[in-house]
Amino acid sequence: MINALRGMKDTIGEDAEVYSYFIDTCTKIAKNYGFELIETPILEETALFKRSVGESSDIVGKEMYQFIDKGDNDVCLRPEGTAGVVRAFIQQKMDKAGGIRRFFYHGPMFRYERPQKGRLRQFHQFGVETFGESSVKEDATLVLMLKEMFEALGIGSKLQINSLGCPSCMPQYREKLVHFLNTKEGLCEDCQRRKQTNPIRVLDCKNEYCQKLLEDAPLLKDNLCSTCRDDFEELKRILETFGVSYEVTPKLVRGLDYYSKTAFEFVSDEIGAQSAIAGGGRYDRLVEFLDGKPTFGVGFAMGIERLSELVKMPQKSREGFYMGALCEEAMDSISRLVFDRRKSDKTFTIYEPKSLKSHLKNADKLYVKFCVCIGEDELRDGNIWIKNLESKEERLVKIEDFKGV
Ligand SMILES: [Zn+2]
Ligand SMILES: [Zn+2]
Repeated sequence: MINALRGMKDTIGEDAEVYSYFIDTCTKIAKNYGFELIETPILEETALFKRSVGESSDIVGKEMYQFIDKGDNDVCLRPEGTAGVVRAFIQQKMDKAGGIRRFFYHGPMFRYERPQKGRLRQFHQFGVETFGESSVKEDATLVLMLKEMFEALGIGSKLQINSLGCPSCMPQYREKLVHFLNTKEGLCEDCQRRKQTNPIRVLDCKNEYCQKLLEDAPLLKDNLCSTCRDDFEELKRILETFGVSYEVTPKLVRGLDYYSKTAFEFVSDEIGAQSAIAGGGRYDRLVEFLDGKPTFGVGFAMGIERLSELVKMPQKSREGFYMGALCEEAMDSISRLVFDRRKSDKTFTIYEPKSLKSHLKNADKLYVKFCVCIGEDELRDGNIWIKNLESKEERLVKIEDFKGV
């Protein structure tokens, strides 16, 4: 017997219902906010992720499904969604066309990491990206949209925000931070390395001793230029206007150079220790970084499997029809009814005559609202027998009147 690969799973039954409910709910909200669907290939050139996600990141350094294809191309299964969308944006010359474009995407992503609860090697993300809008109002709008998605899905969450500065204030801050770090002894091995390659990442080190050393570290929020500070204040003002509570989290950072200004995360303590359930922010230099024309960018992404267990599904109600013949002679009439009804309603049938009891049992299992049967008596009198499984009411209806039911 051949099994699915480790860390990959089949989605069926209840899981499949939650998954499609998640996608439908977020899609509807994203469309209401003016976002359009974008689908990019699952397989891309490895260089795309090396350049955008960064070779020093765990995702690219350790977790990529990377291989050489039959044409000797170095390719990999996408580990995240943004890089492909940005590549498409540039390749379709949308950067040159200018204006504002808003996209949402969803689909499978792949990371070769140790599988654990809520963390698969093939998992799914839903995300959005806005290109060409410099206003911090767009950042706030993305936060509000994500909040609305969580509310619609019944997911409780807390918002954390930070500003990562911009090219005119970030480098000075980084220097200050490195200077500070040089006065400290005992940083973990990772942080020793980060201090050289990416000092900002030291701030969110999980090592307790590192966190202790960082207690009086200079913080970004105290070192922002006036533009960054004004934007951050505006973001907070909008969130307050809309009654969204937030926490400013100075140690919420993103490791890559092209991230700037707004960074946000939604966290939940419903899945173990408080953990991030969605994250996003501004990446004004990513398009340029991938050889496009400089274009503002801001977006977010969330992992669907991690969130699935938090989704509160609406109460399931009976819907649709089940139709069955009680005798061989009624099979054709049932087939015709089924065919017609499927133009408007979910309709099940079975291709052989059964007893009324057995049809009712099937109908109940399928959780339909109506069970329809035709036997010898009904056939002779031009009737159909119909039972509403919600109200338990049974009646005979003339076959020509059935369309109105
Ligand atoms: Zn700045
Ligand atoms: Zn550390």
